[in-house]
Amino acid sequence: MSPTRDSFDFDASAQLLAAIVASSDDAIISKTVDGRVTSWNRGAERMFGYVADEMIGGPIAVLALPGREDEMPAILARIRAGERVEHFETERRHKNGASVLVSLSVSPIHNARGEVVGASKVARDISAARQASDALKLAQARLQEQHLELMHAARLGELGQMAATLAHEINQPLSAIKAYLQGSQRIILRDDEPSRLKVQDALLRAVDQTDRAGEVVRRLRQFAKPNDGVQSRQSIDQILEDAAMLATLDAGQRGVTVDLNPRLGRAMVMADRIEIQQVLMNLIRNAIEAMEGQPRCELQLGARQASGAIEVSVSDTGPGLPSDVRERLFTPFVTTKPNGMGIGLSICRKIIEGHGGRLWAEDNVRGGTTFRFTLQAA
Ligand code: ADP
Repeated sequence: MSPTRDSFDFDASAQLLAAIVASSDDAIISKTVDGRVTSWNRGAERMFGYVADEMIGGPIAVLALPGREDEMPAILARIRAGERVEHFETERRHKNGASVLVSLSVSPIHNARGEVVGASKVARDISAARQASDALKLAQARLQEQHLELMHAARLGELGQMAATLAHEINQPLSAIKAYLQGSQRIILRDDEPSRLKVQDALLRAVDQTDRAGEVVRRLRQFAKPNDGVQSRQSIDQILEDAAMLATLDAGQRGVTVDLNPRLGRAMVMADRIEIQQVLMNLIRNAIEAMEGQPRCELQLGARQASGAIEVSVSDTGPGLPSDVRERLFTPFVTTKPNGMGIGLSICRKIIEGHGGRLWAEDNVRGGTTFRFTLQAA
């Protein structure tokens, strides 16, 4: 008698299923509700080192790693309650004692009356996936480290270019202090009331000059420090002031007037202070250099609130953007300066985008260029 259509389909699909189970790379295992193994495919043999004959009829608990003995009874308890356990990442013990990183999915097996009589378990070896994800995390961490080192190197480079200005700026108060002290020494011998007042006045001025030099050194040291890339709440006015002070030290000498107009009072941004100062220093130095030899040399620094963000601007009255670099301003190594590196603006954009903001350039109506960037308000 030929098989009925139904029994034929059943046999064929059972065979197909058996073939799929046998050839699977995943371990496919079934067990009773009290944890005795009832089937064990070749994937399980490869993954855990035991052949089917060793496992069938025995306890699944031989796969438990020391310290993880409670896991299997807990999973079986959930199965008895009719629940599934999906993509549970854990470790199991190979026959040779090594640990195998697996992702488990366990489902209850019901009999015809709907009672739970066992569990089917699919285990996938995720050691390779975990290794890949660990390697990716490591690579990302290294990349972040290199990014910070690059920023640091760029900052030191900038300070190097400004070394002469900085030396001058520190030397000036030192000379003034020396003059006040020498003057005091001369008048101190005349022991009368007016002399005492003069000496007192000279010493106060000397102290002021010390503070001024100290302030430049403080900002310099802070700017030269390597940073950890951590963002925190910062006053945008303070960042602007610190960066402007360092970057415009030689503005007077170069005939550039500086209009610092933050006006945001206590507005705060989420930022890495040193990195944002680095951006400002770059933009300000570029602006000052662009205005070299121009009839009008006005630098304007501002900050304003713009739809939930803080927008900072650095505006100059220079010749405007050279047409050959306009489209590639933010591309590394694009420069029109004989000694330029052409990496300033590309680093600035990286920093600002790393802060979730935008950096762009605009032509001014009355000539010159304005660079603007946004930062999220904190
Ligand atoms: P570098 O300053 O070393 O050249 P940047 O990336 O900072 O590197 O700038 C790239 C180029 O963009 C400059 O060489 C200059 O041609 C142009 N540029 C930048 N800022 C201005 C500005 N404010 N006005 C005109 N051109 C500018």
